[in-house]
Amino acid sequence: MLRLNPGGMYAIGVHLDPAVTTFVVLDLVGAVVQHSRIRTPGGNDPAAVISTMATEIEHLVAESGVDTTRIAGLGLAAPGPIDLDNGTVVDPPLLPGWDRVELRDALAKATGYSVLVDKDVTSAAVAETWAGGPSGSGSFIFMYMGTGIGCGIVLNDEVVRGTSGNAGEIGHIVVDPDGPVCDCGLRGCVKSSAIPQVLVAEAVAAGILDGSGKRTSGAEVQQSFSQLCDLADAGDAKALAIIDKSAVLVARAVSVVTNTLDVERVVFGGPFWSRIADRYLEKVRRWWTPTVRPA
Ligand SMILES: [Zn+2]
Repeated sequence: MLRLNPGGMYAIGVHLDPAVTTFVVLDLVGAVVQHSRIRTPGGNDPAAVISTMATEIEHLVAESGVDTTRIAGLGLAAPGPIDLDNGTVVDPPLLPGWDRVELRDALAKATGYSVLVDKDVTSAAVAETWAGGPSGSGSFIFMYMGTGIGCGIVLNDEVVRGTSGNAGEIGHIVVDPDGPVCDCGLRGCVKSSAIPQVLVAEAVAAGILDGSGKRTSGAEVQQSFSQLCDLADAGDAKALAIIDKSAVLVARAVSVVTNTLDVERVVFGGPFWSRIADRYLEKVRRWWTPTVRPA
């Protein structure tokens, strides 16, 4: 019998999120050998972030004790939209100054490793097919609950990237026709009514979160959203109402996507998911109307 030798080769994974950047060293079977997490540097300076990433990667590899000649390369999950062909990040939300940053080439130059860039939602879907067990096979969507909302798509065990690498941009599905105006001009898109930044603003308007801070960076939004979730966990009625309403809105978007693609499963994840999982799973199940299949 043949088996993969886990220590035969290694890879580095980086997840760039506006709030937190996560680094891992993985062995050949995908097990995490070493990991670290840093607050994503703020400001409008992608070059500084790339330099910080390179330093962190160097430390992480050194700590892992892995021989650098056995590292096959580096995979980077970045917020969309991206330009897959050029490895470019195109104006992602809450990362001011990141307009068409050639992240793949810059990180390759800074680290010396070959680099692949994929959209965060797609990377999550790929990870699910590798490590999700039974939930990572067949046809499913991966609802990515991060700074924004997107979905990774897997159909018949194939990850769907789309022609430009940006499949799964579901942010402009209208889920609340009377909701706030979105930057696209429509009202009540899921991205203008149910992402953490919006929920935090609702909590400020409801008087349950302090409204003095600007909350323009990913880290600030994450911190405030965490406070909102703490209030909901403690039973604050206004906080619970905000979270529950957002769950219903997200469920409407999920319903549109699942009916369009005729998938058998919805997997939720992403950096903000664990804080809202309990409330969402209750609401989404009630709202999700799966496609009716012939008997
Ligand atoms: Zn919109």
